[in-house]
Amino acid sequence: MPDSCLHRFVMPSNRNTASPERLLRQDILSLRAYHVQPGSGMVKLDAMENPYSLPEIVRAEIAGAVSNAAINRYPDTNAQRLKEKIKAVSGMPPEMEVLLGNGSDEIIQLLALAVAKPGATLMSVEPSFVMYKMIAAFTGLNYVGVPLTEDFALDLAAMLAAIKRHQPALIFLAYPNNPTGNLFDAAAITQIIEAANGLVVVDEAYYAFASNSFLPQLEHYANVLVMRTFSKLGMAGLRLGFLAGSKIWLEQLDKLRLPYNVGVLTQIVVEILLSHHEILLQQAEQIRRDRAWLFERLVGTVDVHAYPSAANFILFRLPHAARVFEGLKQRGVLIKKLDGSHPALLDCLRVTVGTPGENELFVRALQESIHQFA
Ligand code: PMP
Repeated sequence: MPDSCLHRFVMPSNRNTASPERLLRQDILSLRAYHVQPGSGMVKLDAMENPYSLPEIVRAEIAGAVSNAAINRYPDTNAQRLKEKIKAVSGMPPEMEVLLGNGSDEIIQLLALAVAKPGATLMSVEPSFVMYKMIAAFTGLNYVGVPLTEDFALDLAAMLAAIKRHQPALIFLAYPNNPTGNLFDAAAITQIIEAANGLVVVDEAYYAFASNSFLPQLEHYANVLVMRTFSKLGMAGLRLGFLAGSKIWLEQLDKLRLPYNVGVLTQIVVEILLSHHEILLQQAEQIRRDRAWLFERLVGTVDVHAYPSAANFILFRLPHAARVFEGLKQRGVLIKKLDGSHPALLDCLRVTVGTPGENELFVRALQESIHQFA
């Protein structure tokens, strides 16, 4: 390297005092980033993904469409065709609209940004999906997390009291809930909707594995929006979520959406996959059956307490959870350790339902790990 270049590398300008500590918001500096565990080479049962690939004929259809895609052009910002397809397959009331997000995470952020007036509050329950609280922090909202009961049901009296006290602009209820897996009592949710002066977003990320939905309620309650994602239905890599609700809300929220948030390839591939919706639903059906198998195995394992699930994962509690989690990892099985993330999740782990083979590997590795630490 010539001397002159070296000189440039070793002589940073000492007048520049930019540093994260000086420039960034204190609340951002104090946040802990959303943690994603490296899963390469493992039996990956940590992230609620669909374990199945697609039939060859559908893959060929996707390959053809992708090879002709105009990736030199910006995507259709309104993704009109895709929206029509989503409306058709989801069975939402016909007069409702949809807004698309780069995953439903993006929609949570968009909703939070929209209501983030000084002093506004975002409310959810605890334990629930951690991004509600994190995004409240990103957007400067007050956050109130109302504890669930010991068996992870909604504490309706506590919710109603918290609504009265904090007057939340935005309430998120995951239905089924993550990480507990249960469907909250629909009548209790309805009471919350009726008591709230703000928006209630029913987050149906796991709708494909449950038997109930609030989509029909969109017609009856002006303050309800339903959010869904395609991530758990076999499209986690495509990043697409949607918010369904009345135009009155969606046309305002749409102003905050970044112009090209859903890429050309995502639009094309999701449209194709939704035209084969029955394949995805069959996979979800298989996952439900395997959830029942896995639940029985967990319930039958000494010292394990498994919580009934309407989602594609199961939460369970057992002694020495953190060590058992490591034991599973040593045996090549990655699940999610919730122990340590919230007091109500002490000694809890969460396993995603995989293929029958993966589930068997998990059960064997779990039994071995439990014996190791008994
Ligand atoms: N809501 C809930 C309840 C979730 O569990 C998740 C993902 N874990 C999401 C939303 C976000 O999903 P995505 O951004 O992949 O659409």
